[in-house]
Amino acid sequence: MLSKKVDLNRLQEADTVLTPTYASRALSTDVPRYELPQEGMEPRLAYNLIHDELILDGSSRLNLATFVTTWMEPEVRQLMAETFDKNLIDKDEYPQTAELEKRCVNMIARLWNAPKDQDAVGTSTVGSSEAAMLAGMALKWRWRERMKKQGKPTDRPNLVMGINVQVCWKKFARYWEIEPRYIPMEGNRFHLNAEEAVKYCDENTIGVIAVLGSTFDGSYEPIKEISDALDRLYAENGLDILIHVDAASGGFVAPFIQPDLEWDFRVPRVASINSSGHKYGLVYPGVGWALWRDQEALPEELVFSVNYLGGQIPTFTLNFSRPGNQVVGQYYNFLRLGREGYTRIQRVSQEIALYLSDQIAQLGPFELISDGSELPVFAWRLKEETNFTLFDMADRLRSHGWLVPAYTLPKNREDLVVQRVVVKEGFSRDLADLLLKDIRQALQYFAAQPGYTPKQRDNSFAHL
Ligand SMILES: *Cc1c(COP(=O)(O)O)cnc(C)c1O
Repeated sequence: MLSKKVDLNRLQEADTVLTPTYASRALSTDVPRYELPQEGMEPRLAYNLIHDELILDGSSRLNLATFVTTWMEPEVRQLMAETFDKNLIDKDEYPQTAELEKRCVNMIARLWNAPKDQDAVGTSTVGSSEAAMLAGMALKWRWRERMKKQGKPTDRPNLVMGINVQVCWKKFARYWEIEPRYIPMEGNRFHLNAEEAVKYCDENTIGVIAVLGSTFDGSYEPIKEISDALDRLYAENGLDILIHVDAASGGFVAPFIQPDLEWDFRVPRVASINSSGHKYGLVYPGVGWALWRDQEALPEELVFSVNYLGGQIPTFTLNFSRPGNQVVGQYYNFLRLGREGYTRIQRVSQEIALYLSDQIAQLGPFELISDGSELPVFAWRLKEETNFTLFDMADRLRSHGWLVPAYTLPKNREDLVVQRVVVKEGFSRDLADLLLKDIRQALQYFAAQPGYTPKQRDNSFAHL
C-alpha cells in the first residue's frame, strides 16, 4: 500500500529544479550569516534569498534624504550593465573607456568655464570625497612649495571652511594632518561668508573651502564675495590664498539653472572644483569629478604616469581599480541630455522644491530656513515648541515609507532642529502631493493629542 505521507526530508534533499523555490532547503532553514558556508546553493535561490532580505531597506525612490541618483533610464542601465567588467584603470586595455573619461573631463571643464586656451586638467573619482582628498592635497603641496621658497616652516598647515562642510573635509584634515578651522554658524547665517572667511586666514592657510550647495539647507556660499575678500587680503598684507569649491551638488545644478551666478573658474581665486557625478550629474553611485583651473594648479609630483597605448597617461587618484561603467553612464547622460536636457530636469526639480516648500510653509507650524531656490533642496523648523518634534514627524513619515531626515544644526546653532527634503530627478509633482498628504495627516494626528499648539488650529489641514 502506498503511503500518503510525503517524506519532506527526502524531497528537500533532492533540491532539484523541480523543487518549488520557497520549499527548498535554502529558503526554509536559516541562512549562513557570519561564516562562509561549506556548500553553495542554486543561483535562483541565492537571488531570492538576498533579494528578499533587501526588501527591508527603505525604498530609494522615497528617500528624500539622499542627494544621490535613484533613477536612471532603461537604456543607460543596460549600457552600464554591459560595462560592469571594465576596470577604469586599464587604460591600455580599454582605451575607449579612457577616451570617454577624457571627453567627460573636457565637457565639465567647459561647463565650469575653465580657461579655453588649455587642455582640461581633471579626473574622475569614486565620488566627491575622493575628489576632495585630491584637491585638498594639491592645495597643501602648493602651499608647502610657496613656504619653502620663502624659507618658512611648513609644519602647521590649516584649512579654512564653514562648520557646515561635509564630513569629507573633516576626514581630509585628519588624514593629511591639517588643522581644520571651522567657522561656526551664527544666528540665521547657516554657512560661510566672506567676512568670516578672511578673519580665519593666515600664512599657514593652504586654502579656503567654499561649498556650492550646503548639505544642511541647500544654500550656496558666496564664492565671488569670498574671492573678492581674499583679493583685498592679498592687497593689504600679501597673503595669496586660493579657493577650492566643493560643488558636490551645485556643480551640475548652477550651470543649468543659475547660469549667471559666478561660482566657477570665472572667479579668479578658484583653483579647483569637485562635483559628484552621482548626485545632480544624474548617474548611479559612485562617480565624482575633480578639476583644476590649469596645469599650474595641480603640482606635478602628485601625478603618476601610467602607460597608455605606448604613450604615458597621467593619473591622480587614490584607488587603482575602479568600475569604468559609471564613467560610461556619465558620458551617456551628457550625450543623451545635453545642456538642454539637464536644464529641463534641474528646472523641474527646482519647481517642485519651490512648490513643496511653499505648501509646507502654509501648513502653519513650520517656518522655512531655505526654500529650494538655490539647490532644489529646502529645510524647515518648527515655529514654536509644541507636543511633537521634527524627529517625531520624521518617524511618522517613515511609517508611510518616506525618508525625510530631521537633525540638529552644528555649532553655534545646535539648538535648532530642522527637517530637509532633497528634490531630484524621479521625484514627481504627484509624489510631492502624496508626501504633503502624509505630512498633513501626521499634523492632524499630533493636533488630536494633548498639548498641541498653536491652540487656534490651522485651517489648512482641518478639512482632513
Ligand atoms: C555629498 C557631498 C560630499 C561627499 O560626496 P560623495 O560623492 O558622497 O563622496 C561632499 N561635499 C558635499 C557638499 C556634498 O554634498
